Amino acid sequence: MRVPLHLASLLRHAAREHGRTPLSTLDVGGTVQRSSWAQMERRARQWGQVWERLGVAHGQPVALLGWNAQGLLEAVLGSAASGRQALTLNPRQFPEQLIWAVNQTRAQALVFDQALAPLVEAMQLQMGSVQHYIQLGGPDLLPELGALMVEAMDAESLLGIDDPDWRWPDLVETDTALISFTAASSGWPRGVPTSHRAAVLQAMAAALPDAYGLSSEDAVMPLLPVAHSGGWALCLCAAVVGSRLVLVPPGLGTAAMAEGMASLGVTLAAGPPTVWQELLDHMDASGLRMPALRRAVVGSAAFPPELLPRLRALPNLDVMHTWGMSEIAPPALVARGAGLVVGSDGRLPQGRPSFGVELALVDDAGNSLPRDGQAEGLLVARGPWTLDAYLGESDSPLIAVDGEEGWFPTGDIARIDERGWVTITDRRKDLIRCGGEWISAAQLERIALSHADVAEAAVIARTDPLLGERPLLIVVQHAGASLDADTLLGLFEGRVAEWQRPAGALVFPELPRLSTGEVDKRELRALVETVLD
Ligand code: ADP
Repeated sequence: MRVPLHLASLLRHAAREHGRTPLSTLDVGGTVQRSSWAQMERRARQWGQVWERLGVAHGQPVALLGWNAQGLLEAVLGSAASGRQALTLNPRQFPEQLIWAVNQTRAQALVFDQALAPLVEAMQLQMGSVQHYIQLGGPDLLPELGALMVEAMDAESLLGIDDPDWRWPDLVETDTALISFTAASSGWPRGVPTSHRAAVLQAMAAALPDAYGLSSEDAVMPLLPVAHSGGWALCLCAAVVGSRLVLVPPGLGTAAMAEGMASLGVTLAAGPPTVWQELLDHMDASGLRMPALRRAVVGSAAFPPELLPRLRALPNLDVMHTWGMSEIAPPALVARGAGLVVGSDGRLPQGRPSFGVELALVDDAGNSLPRDGQAEGLLVARGPWTLDAYLGESDSPLIAVDGEEGWFPTGDIARIDERGWVTITDRRKDLIRCGGEWISAAQLERIALSHADVAEAAVIARTDPLLGERPLLIVVQHAGASLDADTLLGLFEGRVAEWQRPAGALVFPELPRLSTGEVDKRELRALVETVLD
């Protein structure tokens, strides 16, 4: 049968077959909000009706800004499944980047958490396309908004009207369902559209036994924002198999999150290494145990090898290392079981792909490299849910391998061994991975260059024991200037989020350069190590 792959059919399946399966959100106040797949589908339908009544047509983008909670997920899934393009904004990004994403998509509406109302208020004047501001929650919360917030509505009043005859619309499966903005070397995030077909297929692939290995007996907890492709993809995967879902806002703190994991019987949690480290530290300090936990998924950044024995010391735990990106869908690679061992270079492999992700390595001339565990090259991918065009960009990002067009360059440098196991060894994109989120080197360099005494600026990643990586600023000053670290670091206050600021600043007489004139960041990293050691 020609039955299209739609998010609405996925939601309807979860509601029909697993309607009573609980979905829980741990609240900052310590309470647990409860829902179910049936309620999720019902509320998602109501969002479809809200957009119709407000005149937001099929194919139009709506932005959603919030911390992990079922109210946010209902809005995301309801918007996408009813034919709107759901632009998921990550509140961890800096306002400048959020405004950029809203303006790039020309989003018609912005749905947001009450906790983020001050941020929305501050951004409002710069988001000309947004006609409807909708705050999650009831009308009683609205008066707290400031004077600038015009026409804000509360979600509960809008959702209250439910027409029993309303039906999910027929859509074309290749229509865009979700848009995530992903960090780019330029400093300006790029929009990654995901179609209904891609979202459903990747969710099915992610549930397979050698990937997350999920079933209706699991309880899943994303330890990363639902706004990230990795977060919403895991929620869709839970809908495919009808597992329980437990959502936690990051503001909850590690102790409450760990206790929630234990008391709600979470069986699989997925997040960056930094969050796992915090969880393990808390478990060590408090003696808390998690007997239900069966799978620990460590991804978003390289798995520090010292974390492996700590996780493996927990009873009956299958530890996984995953790699993915918004453009390919997480988890594109999974390493687990006997394959997850530290290699001779001290790295843990990222794993091998499931069906649907084809990978290759290429050199700078576009020739494929052997899968011999030695050759290092740019990792490229293709498959039915790999991105072929960024939103609003007419130039194709795809490249040719051995003369054959159509491969997506991941920007990661890797090796592939004879068995197909991939190890990421470096990164070509000029980005810094800090606690599971990205910092753009170019954005920080632009800020440094705004100081009249700075002649040249370069930002590099430096290993950080807690956050994985942190940015370090190196500048060359104009003759006669006498810049110091405090002045340089002061430039970033109020201009980027606190966690994005450089961890230190150095003044060098010159920067090493490649023949192209670009700063040789590899050489600069080596130079910095000799200076700081
Ligand atoms: P996500 O939304 O999943 O974080 P992004 O598209 O923002 O995805 O980032 C993907 C990039 O993150 C990868 O190209 C890679 O550079 C990095 N990354 C993700 N997982 C890993 C990992 N396990 N090891 C090393 N790098 C990783």
